[in-house]
Amino acid sequence: MTQNSPVQDADYQPASTRYDTMTYRRSGHSGLKLPAISLGLWHNFAAREFGGQDSLENARAMLRRAFDLGITHFDLANNYGPPPGSAELTFGQLLSEDFRPYRDELIISSKAGYDMWQGPYGNWGSRKYLLSSLDQSLKRMGLEYVDIFYHHRPDPETPLEETMSALDHAVRSGRALYVGLSNYTPEQTRQASALLRQLGTPALIHQPSYSMLNRRVEGLLGGGNLLETLRDVGMGAIVFSPLQQGLLSDRYLKGIPEGSRASGGRFLRPEHVTDAVIARTTKLNAVALERGQTLAQMALAWVLRWPQITSALIGASRIEQIDDAVEALSKLDFSPQELEEIEKILAN
Ligand code: NDP
Repeated sequence: MTQNSPVQDADYQPASTRYDTMTYRRSGHSGLKLPAISLGLWHNFAAREFGGQDSLENARAMLRRAFDLGITHFDLANNYGPPPGSAELTFGQLLSEDFRPYRDELIISSKAGYDMWQGPYGNWGSRKYLLSSLDQSLKRMGLEYVDIFYHHRPDPETPLEETMSALDHAVRSGRALYVGLSNYTPEQTRQASALLRQLGTPALIHQPSYSMLNRRVEGLLGGGNLLETLRDVGMGAIVFSPLQQGLLSDRYLKGIPEGSRASGGRFLRPEHVTDAVIARTTKLNAVALERGQTLAQMALAWVLRWPQITSALIGASRIEQIDDAVEALSKLDFSPQELEEIEKILAN
């Protein structure tokens, strides 16, 4: 328990209804199912107690609400914060206070691949970096193993064989149950998947970015179609930033609200909220309302229309956003006319 925790000694009892409505989808050709909506802890999970700017109690409320709604998967990385590591420390604290009895009901992921510590061993894809980083992540979260360990981004210098053998070793040594790739191109994914299969640790999942405003995985910008590759190699996908960091919601339709991610100006900045984006999202919002959904809900249903996409990996700054996301699952289907209308809006 932390010194300042108002829920000290309050035993957390998750909702008994937590598995009643969530949809679980199988990741590729694996035995593992993930919730169609998963929660990422990149933003809003760096508690002040661990040097960050966020509220531990809000982080606790969001994890509890998510789990109560059947969200069994929480996604982290070594560098989430800021400062790097603080999201894992926050998660570790909440795990020990609330979720320890439910460890076997949870899929917890972490990653390494971006800059984490000084010197030549704190970044990219060497065996030295990946395994040391994973040990650090386990320590910060108070875990014996993570469920999924990702290589966070391809390394242009380290041989792919070395990186994949480090992932395989993470599993063989009991530090991880499954491995994943993030931000790999279709060709890199094919090669990595073949290597991992030879090693006997098939790649479970790919974590690319995908939203109505970012369709690279469909191959529209060249560089191959990742969704086809994933279908061919039998991997699932969990797509990050499906709401384009909040742009695909009604949050910015009337300006940039105080406290929103765009107002903070780190990864989403006021200059990203252009007139052209708002013109487009206003039209998309009208389509969503006709479907009886919020724009965020329609944006999530839209990425989940591919069978290869196991889960939409959202972020949230408050519990109502988690409620809103999960509600998307009650209407996932699109009529051909709706899809056509959306295509037209996105093409302009
Ligand atoms: P989203 O696109 O879902 O954006 C989340 C943000 O959108 C929230 O923080 C909130 O912003 C706003 N929002 C969410 N729901 C609503 C709603 N219903 N109505 C209005 N606004 C809403 O995803 P993220 O960009 O946060 O990424 C999700 C996860 O993906 C990360 O936590 C991380 O786990 C993973 N990720 C992985 C990367 C990789 O390289 N592998 C890179 C980036 C992310 P606000 O603060 O304004 O309320």
